[in-house]
Amino acid sequence: MQGKMTGFKCKSCGRVMYPRHERCLGCKGTDFEEVELAKEGILLTYTKLYALPEGIEMPPLVLGIVDFGGVRALGQLTTDDVKVGMKLRPIWGKLRKLGGREIYGFRFEPAEKS
Ligand SMILES: [Zn+2]
Repeated sequence: MQGKMTGFKCKSCGRVMYPRHERCLGCKGTDFEEVELAKEGILLTYTKLYALPEGIEMPPLVLGIVDFGGVRALGQLTTDDVKVGMKLRPIWGKLRKLGGREIYGFRFEPAEKS
């Protein structure tokens, strides 16, 4: 399922953040409005985790930092065939089970199939 990412824009200085912070990272303001982020982002950097905690059965787990028009989001990638600068789009879904609870969130998949 394709997802839309919502960012939080500081009403004082205009800085957009994701995820939401208690206080603006720029001016420490506390007033935000929700804004829709770009549908696609660019991969800035990534890391592969080979040593996974017990109970997670999908090595390697790839985590990336994706830039959505200036807003940086950290998330799990759906592929390990990655390179910096590639376009990714967010998909919403089940990430893992944690203590019997299902955790949902965004993962990032390649926007263009090569
Ligand atoms: Zn601010």
